[in-house]
Amino acid sequence: MAEFSGKTGLIVGVANKRSIAWAIAQATAARGARLVLTYQGRFEDHVRELSEGLAERPLVLPCDVTSDAEIDAAFARADQELGGVDFVVHGAAFALRDELTSPFTQTTREGFRVALDVSAYSLIALARAAAPLMEKRGGGSILTLTYLGSERVFPNYNVMGVAKAALEATVRYLAADLGPRNIRVNAISAGPIKTLAAAGIGGFSTILNVYRDRAPLRRNVEAAEIGDAAAFLLSDAGKAITGEVLMVDAGYHIAGM
Ligand code: NAD
Repeated sequence: MAEFSGKTGLIVGVANKRSIAWAIAQATAARGARLVLTYQGRFEDHVRELSEGLAERPLVLPCDVTSDAEIDAAFARADQELGGVDFVVHGAAFALRDELTSPFTQTTREGFRVALDVSAYSLIALARAAAPLMEKRGGGSILTLTYLGSERVFPNYNVMGVAKAALEATVRYLAADLGPRNIRVNAISAGPIKTLAAAGIGGFSTILNVYRDRAPLRRNVEAAEIGDAAAFLLSDAGKAITGEVLMVDAGYHIAGM
């Protein structure tokens, strides 16, 4: 039986066919999940077009994670139309362009606020909205996406590294808070993948080359591989795992040099 049959998931972070959140949508839909795909304003057309490629047509809804009203409305619709939510994928991150090109000491107060709000606080807001719907279904699983730049310094990753450190701490505090309600919260720390968000990081192709040369598996990861790992963590196969950051990076993080 498909791992996700009878399960419903709400996915934040699909912008186009390269989005990691889209790979997770495909991986969970292929295993039987019914989905709500949300979009940030300008990506509506892309997301609607992609949604037509899934075997079971998902509900497509707006959800800008800086708006509590849009978050509440998306979960209310998911509740009405699908009778609750079993899993949530948080694949949203953003930093102002200047913050990813200027020296780190030039990080602005506003740039810091925006990066932390969109990329880290939003996980708390989504978890708060999802928890009652998950509880109705006996529990649930929440997954976010992070990067090794939370612990190590990568050129130009700057304030996004700080946001990812906050995001990973948020995973642990949420896991502790929601665990008694049988709601799990985890992160996948993905190796670098050429996506729209990655294109904003200066010198990203150098990062890809370094991973290819030094990762134990001597290659980069593919979005579909993040999708498979996500399906594991979101499904009952991962039901004893919470508060974890799973490295899916061809082993790069273990390399000393
Ligand atoms: P992407 O550009 O396809 O996805 C980023 C998403 O964030 C977009 O869908 C965008 O609409 C969404 N977003 C930004 N601001 C938002 C807002 N206010 N409200 C709602 N959504 C908003 O790029 P991606 O690489 O697939 O990024 C997905 C996640 O994976 C991000 O958290 C990113 O940091 C993380 N990640 C990416 C890589 C990589 O190399 N690509 C590696 C590790 C982690």
